[in-house]
Amino acid sequence: MTRAHSANPHRIVIVGGGAGGLELATRLGRRHGRRGTVKVVLVDRTRTHMWKPLLHAVAAGSLNIHEEQIDYLYQARWNHFEYCRGAMRELDRVEREIIVGEVRGDDGELVLPERRIAYDTLVIAVGSLCNDFGTPGVAEHAYKLDAAWEAHLFHRKLVNACFSANYHLPGSGAHLDIAIVGGGATGVELAAELHNTTRVLAAYGLRNLDPDRHIRIRLIEAGPRILPGLTESLSTAVTGILSGIGVTVNTGVKVTEVTPTAVHTASGEVLPADLVVWAAGIRAPAFLRDIDGLETDRIDRLAVNAHLQSTRDANIYAFGDCAASPWQDGDATLPPRAQVAHQQASYLARALPARVRGESPPAFRYKDYGSLVSIGHHDTLGNLMGFVRGKGIRIEGMVASFMYWLLYRSHLIALNGFRKTALDTVTGWMRRHTDPHVKLH
Ligand SMILES: Cc1cc2nc3c(=O)[nH]c(=O)nc-3n(C[C@H](O)[C@H](O)[C@H](O)COP(=O)(O)OP(=O)(O)OC[C@H]3O[C@@H](n4cnc5c(N)ncnc54)[C@H](O)[C@@H]3O)c2cc1C
Repeated sequence: MTRAHSANPHRIVIVGGGAGGLELATRLGRRHGRRGTVKVVLVDRTRTHMWKPLLHAVAAGSLNIHEEQIDYLYQARWNHFEYCRGAMRELDRVEREIIVGEVRGDDGELVLPERRIAYDTLVIAVGSLCNDFGTPGVAEHAYKLDAAWEAHLFHRKLVNACFSANYHLPGSGAHLDIAIVGGGATGVELAAELHNTTRVLAAYGLRNLDPDRHIRIRLIEAGPRILPGLTESLSTAVTGILSGIGVTVNTGVKVTEVTPTAVHTASGEVLPADLVVWAAGIRAPAFLRDIDGLETDRIDRLAVNAHLQSTRDANIYAFGDCAASPWQDGDATLPPRAQVAHQQASYLARALPARVRGESPPAFRYKDYGSLVSIGHHDTLGNLMGFVRGKGIRIEGMVASFMYWLLYRSHLIALNGFRKTALDTVTGWMRRHTDPHVKLH
């Protein structure tokens, strides 16, 4: 680990330009790539980045994907790293190379062939996917919010379903039934956002569609309560808000099958569902399973130590959702949250260059600042940690909304700096005064 001069710089290859990976590539590139002390390469299967916690808003149509995406080529050019397009498929630890699959265009034409990319340090940050636990029908009939394009496709389907319902409704007594499976933050936020956008859609000329009577949104959770990651009182409060706006909350209900028109439950119930979103649990991408002898857990996450190094290869790091990272000195692992990926990216931006210089950086320590959940424009609630030793404080209303808004801004500041983020924020506000609040196509 001593190669660190500009003629032959240390090669840090980061796979996955998501909430964590893009922040890391940007910080390393800006600070060390610019000077040529390290060469930073970012590999991503897509051409653009979108912060994943925004996907429920894309699905509901309250956010336009074309406005919030960051082009990897642009980001690489201005932050002194190299962008390589393609999905990592394999790892060759002996040669210290990753294998990136070929890229094909929309018509199936070959854009890029399979390639091998050499590394001195490899950082894997490929995130997670929805876990359907092998439930029949989910792959065929349910939407998952794994990527911006999938969220966008769900939105198109939603708008079409509203148009269709509006056309067929007079006299038919039909309903549009939307089922969201998974009562975590994603499911809750999506339910609230959908409640809002279906009302806006109806207001834009779908005269036959009365959302209160014709659109039924159901949130289904297998556990005893929604938002298991938050306190019981917050969970009860959110259940109350959702019920108050007409969202049906079913807890203790396990979905066993999804069909084109319904979800079936373990107790034998058949719940009507024209649109199903699956947001129950996560797993790491399957290509990571035991990849070239590295240790992975039962949901294919790479096992890492307190320095975020793979337990079987000190030159390979993993972080964010795809890493099983120890927490609280026990059996627990860090939760799949943007806050975790952000803190780990900041840590690695210091630790990796220190290791290249031959130093021994301290272990990563996670600071839990609590969690927030946004119930559309109805409310934002959460608990903030770290104010009272060992205890969290409950926040809601405008303070919570502001803290929630700040989460994404912190990500943008890490990527674009304060000045550009401030300017983009102001232009975004101005645009919102003239554009419809919900994407209508
Ligand atoms: C709808 C939704 C709402 C959420 N809301 C919140 C929230 O409010 N607060 C919160 O803290 N967390 C939230 N999360 C979780 C949060 O988004 C994740 O914890 C976070 O994005 C993880 O960051 P990451 O860098 O590990 O992975 P990601 O951000 O998922 O990025 C992974 C990247 O890897 C790329 N990739 C994948 N496979 C490959 C491959 N084989 N080769 C190359 N590139 C690859 C992907 O294209 C992507 O760019 C939410 C998640 C969802 C889905």
